[in-house]
Amino acid sequence: MSVLEKRSSAEVIKLEDKYGAHNYHPLPVVLSKGEGVYVWDVEGKKYYDFLSAYSAVNQGHCHPKIVNAMMEQAKTLTLTSRAFYNDKLGVYEEYITKYFGFDKVLPMNTGAEAVETALKICRKWAYEVKGIAENEAQIIVCENNFHGRTTTIISFSNDENARKNFGPYTAGFIKIAYDDLDALEKAITSSKNIAGFLVEPIQGEAGVYVPSEEYLAKAKELCKANNVLFIADEVQTGVARTGSLLAVCGNCSCESKCEKQATYVQPDILILGKALSGGAYPVSAVLADDEVMNVIKPGQHGSTFGGNPIAAAVAMAALDVVNEESLAQNARKLGELFRSELAKFIETSSIATLVRGKGLLNAVLINDTEDSDTAWNICMALRDNGLLAKPTHGNIIRFAPPLVMNEEQLLDCVSIITSTLKQFEK
Ligand SMILES: *Cc1c(COP(=O)(O)O)cnc(C)c1O
Repeated sequence: MSVLEKRSSAEVIKLEDKYGAHNYHPLPVVLSKGEGVYVWDVEGKKYYDFLSAYSAVNQGHCHPKIVNAMMEQAKTLTLTSRAFYNDKLGVYEEYITKYFGFDKVLPMNTGAEAVETALKICRKWAYEVKGIAENEAQIIVCENNFHGRTTTIISFSNDENARKNFGPYTAGFIKIAYDDLDALEKAITSSKNIAGFLVEPIQGEAGVYVPSEEYLAKAKELCKANNVLFIADEVQTGVARTGSLLAVCGNCSCESKCEKQATYVQPDILILGKALSGGAYPVSAVLADDEVMNVIKPGQHGSTFGGNPIAAAVAMAALDVVNEESLAQNARKLGELFRSELAKFIETSSIATLVRGKGLLNAVLINDTEDSDTAWNICMALRDNGLLAKPTHGNIIRFAPPLVMNEEQLLDCVSIITSTLKQFEK
């Protein structure tokens, strides 16, 4: 068969099964085209995308502005490495630091790399600014966290699948319960060697756990009082997903420069990825002020592709789109509608028990045991009914469409979801 020949879904799935490592268990649907909130499979069937590539495609599939920026830059200059300057990186660095209100940025490619970068910066700061004795620094993390897949990151995961038989593990992490300020205070004050607190403002992979109202602000206060860096992993929650530019913006839905708002909790280190490129290209970033970022000197950290001209052009276009199309405000408004419609359905439902989330990062809890296939089977039925979503842990389905959705489309989706759930009522 020629490589150009069109293949059926079944054939493509067979190829992946035979030639690809089995490190994922995808829903059986083979996509070949995307536009806005829609994707199409190779047979031409159209679906609403309710995963958005784990919130990478916030700006919608193949957004023309982002694709054009990428194509223009790809024709001009793709990669210089950081051995030389390129004419896009500095412009992007000014743009993104002003956009999010930090002194400096360190550009990387994937979310996990950005988390690793933040951990390295935090440790270096601990030794060189805070004055912790060499190799003694500890970083506090939360139970049920998801920060990526590198050896160090999985060292502090408590997902057995992610962790088991990948040891020996990286030392220097203390795990505490999420959304538990007492646990944080106890851990922070337990030792002089605490360097940082790494936290997801909402735990996405764990099943969209929104912490209590005061959690982030109080956590930041505890960090500040104990000279500990507050590190926010907003790889999934950032870039308008939760109805504000960042989840740490709290109740502010302005489109940028949120740090002046009363509800804003300023991270000492902010980690972004996923939607920073609108899903067009792997782009991640770590943002911090000079006092923290300046601990990194030439040769101490880097990446061949980090800060390349395509990434810079794509990220600027992707962040422009967030402002131009008021995506945070739209996510806030549609998220409220989604949860209120689902809550109405759940009142009389025996199959769904709860809807929770913020903005357009939401989850529905399915009424069955953790190890049952019910959530998976519901996602298969949703697929048949033209909507793609995926279970997270246990019997939880995450619903996270592109933020360019309109109200009519959202209500259409609510009707697909509720009528599909009805098929599973006991
Ligand atoms: C997806 C994700 C990561 C990892 O990003 P990759 O690009 O897959 O490496 C890290 N943190 C959070 C919160 C994420 O959701």
